[in-house]
Amino acid sequence: MPFETDLLIHQSVKGRCGVDLPTPEVRNRTGQNLRESIGLPEVSEPQVMRHYTRLSHQNYSIDENFYPLGSCTMKHNPRLNEKLARLEGFAHLHPLQSEEHSQGALEVIYQLTDWLKKLSGMPGLTLDPAAGAHGELTGMMMVRKAHEAKGNPRKIVLVPDSAHGTNPATAATCKYTIVTIKTGDDGMVDMDAFNAAVKEHGEDIAAFMLTNPSTCGLFEPNVKVIADTLHDIGAYFYCDGANFNAIVGKVLPGDLGIDVMQINLHKTFSTPHGGGGPGSGPVMVSEALVPYLPIPYVEKKKDGTFALVKENETSIGRIKGFHGQFGMMIRALAYMMSHGADGLQKVAEDAVLNANYILHNLKDDFHVPYPGPCMHECLLTHKKQKEHGVTTMNIAKALLDAGYHPMTVYFPLVVDGAMLIEPTETESRETMDGFIAAMKTIAKRAQDGDATAFHAQPQTTFRKRLDETQAARKPVLVEDK
Ligand SMILES: *Cc1c(COP(=O)(O)O)cnc(C)c1O
Repeated sequence: MPFETDLLIHQSVKGRCGVDLPTPEVRNRTGQNLRESIGLPEVSEPQVMRHYTRLSHQNYSIDENFYPLGSCTMKHNPRLNEKLARLEGFAHLHPLQSEEHSQGALEVIYQLTDWLKKLSGMPGLTLDPAAGAHGELTGMMMVRKAHEAKGNPRKIVLVPDSAHGTNPATAATCKYTIVTIKTGDDGMVDMDAFNAAVKEHGEDIAAFMLTNPSTCGLFEPNVKVIADTLHDIGAYFYCDGANFNAIVGKVLPGDLGIDVMQINLHKTFSTPHGGGGPGSGPVMVSEALVPYLPIPYVEKKKDGTFALVKENETSIGRIKGFHGQFGMMIRALAYMMSHGADGLQKVAEDAVLNANYILHNLKDDFHVPYPGPCMHECLLTHKKQKEHGVTTMNIAKALLDAGYHPMTVYFPLVVDGAMLIEPTETESRETMDGFIAAMKTIAKRAQDGDATAFHAQPQTTFRKRLDETQAARKPVLVEDK
């Protein structure tokens, strides 16, 4: 059991030293010493070691336990990827090193680009964005630039009400007005609402941002009709590809008429995520958007060597320092090569199978808003438990005592008391059985009228019942002593 550890700055004792380095002299041009001290904690090496090791014990991680956080694809990160990303030739390469001395790294970028083109069926690609949300922004900047090139950036972006918050945020950042499209009773885009919006706004519509498979864990059946309708009015079809894990190797987004789509390497392609990154959000584009791809990108020359293209007049420009999150690219490529094309198909199949296994086993205990089968994640709600005073939040807190990280809660927003569960393909049947049993116990406790006990949970965690809204809105970062 971890115990309280004071902030390092509070452990500081004047004159205590952990490392013995020469005192640097920072002087300005007149020879004045600008700073005597920058106020770092004065602590010994063992104090620092213990501090961070203790903190690490308070973490919950995918390396320790099941992490069914829907929409996040918290799969196992194979250690082989880590080993390759740490090879000295990659890890110690400076981004300003010459092209001649960076051929291996450029080839990695080129090969990953090639894999992603094949898996998406789309002809153009940038690896520069540092996250999914950054990929969305990059994609929508290209959409805006493409419309501008035709003389009018247009005004409106359509976004379903089930979308991840980054979708409307991206459209707004690109100076578009958002028109929300409601989700039908079946969890799919309400086609009447979509057609009505197209009729009303017509050629003012710049793009539609659709998540497919959706945040309800469903594959959008009207995706091709939607693409055709958008192309008829000269609008672009943006697909949020964060849920690519469900269809990798099975469906080519290019075949669906998608013009631009980000993929989160830190979700589908097993590069680590959480704790603020780094992530990587490559963006694939159709022929129409290729001229606007960011710079730089890698090109293979006739003599078989690789070069960076740094100038392109029609490009949206640079969106990231240097060449993106190179370490993530090595990990993703290692993952793809070790699975092979057939292995990646199996990833999608097993991810979908696992989610349906959980859905099937919990469908009698929890309300299912949209009938299955589902894709890679399944959606439940608190409807049955709420009758007994137990909400999704109570269920999530009770799961902590059972030793599990909760599923994604209250998302998507369109479903009251949503619980979005994504097991991923890397979990065994035994692990899922354990989770299912814990959920069944919780359902039974709610049924038996145990609501008051729920309100006092969790009891076994380092911190008890935290108020996550307060923690996010009024964080206390350094306590005054
Ligand atoms: C994770 C996610 C995003 C954002 O991706 P980040 O890499 O976290 O920026 C966008 N849309 C959906 C549906 C997601 O699940």
